[in-house]
Amino acid sequence: MRVARAKAELREALAEPRVRGKSIGLVPTMGALHEGHLSLIRAARRECDVVVVSVFVNPTQFGPSEDLATYPRDEAGDLAKAEAEGTDIVFAPGAQEMYPQGFATAVEVSDVTEVLEGAPDQRGPEHFRGVTTIVAKLLNIVQPEVAFFGQKDAQQAVVIRRMARDLDFPVRIVVLPTVREPDGLATSSRNHYLDPQQRERATALSRALRTAEERAAAGERSIEGILAAARAELDAAGVEPEYLEAVDPDNLTPARSLNGRAVLLAVAARVGPARLIDNTIIKPDSRGG
Ligand code: AMP
Repeated sequence: MRVARAKAELREALAEPRVRGKSIGLVPTMGALHEGHLSLIRAARRECDVVVVSVFVNPTQFGPSEDLATYPRDEAGDLAKAEAEGTDIVFAPGAQEMYPQGFATAVEVSDVTEVLEGAPDQRGPEHFRGVTTIVAKLLNIVQPEVAFFGQKDAQQAVVIRRMARDLDFPVRIVVLPTVREPDGLATSSRNHYLDPQQRERATALSRALRTAEERAAAGERSIEGILAAARAELDAAGVEPEYLEAVDPDNLTPARSLNGRAVLLAVAARVGPARLIDNTIIKPDSRGG
């Protein structure tokens, strides 16, 4: 496995496989690799000839009051895990390499970045502006045929698909299911922030989503009914959601009913020092009669 710190080094490493017609897969990450990331790397390994994993804690997607300084970093562990999954190249640039002096450009997607995580009282659309800018850069640097993302960050996946479509990036975006701990908690680098008690309370998020799914499967048709069931699980655990919303999974507009179309149920909540997000898609055929 090769580790490239510079864009030029990465391009050079990819030049030969590219001319030989090898397919290149990209897995963008912010490191502190866990099973969620590894599931993406495994999918890339299955589908592509050359697997590139990027590890870059992107400063522009963190707000001023967010956890950039404390975000978990473990490069040695990341390299070992990436290698064990058969990664060919890890691209681990420094901030200067990605945002050199004079950097003045951003990629901005509207609408789908202005709700849920992008609402003014949440992380705001600037968060996604940071995400789309760095992902656009990574897609241009690596020029993969396929790029792999996790459903854990459902809105991010919608935003990136939209960017790739609108700006004609010649890439296929693959979104893979959320990987969970045995008790349901979605694996996340931010789970490192939780002490054992908070870790236990954090299971309320996935429990709330599962309860909503069960209600839907039992025939509940009203969005309010589904949300109330989820909300009750959070309340019982003393977890106050920052948002709990049912939206259209493609354009993130509010869902009106559970009839006929899939609904994305998304939740964000602070548990101790961690801001956690989770989501599920309730499909028409999981709604019973
Ligand atoms: P991050 O390092 O948090 O920026 O995540 C990098 C990629 O891994 C993103 O596409 C995430 O959606 C994905 N990811 C993070 N957690 C999970 C998870 N629990 N299951 C599946 N994918 C995940």
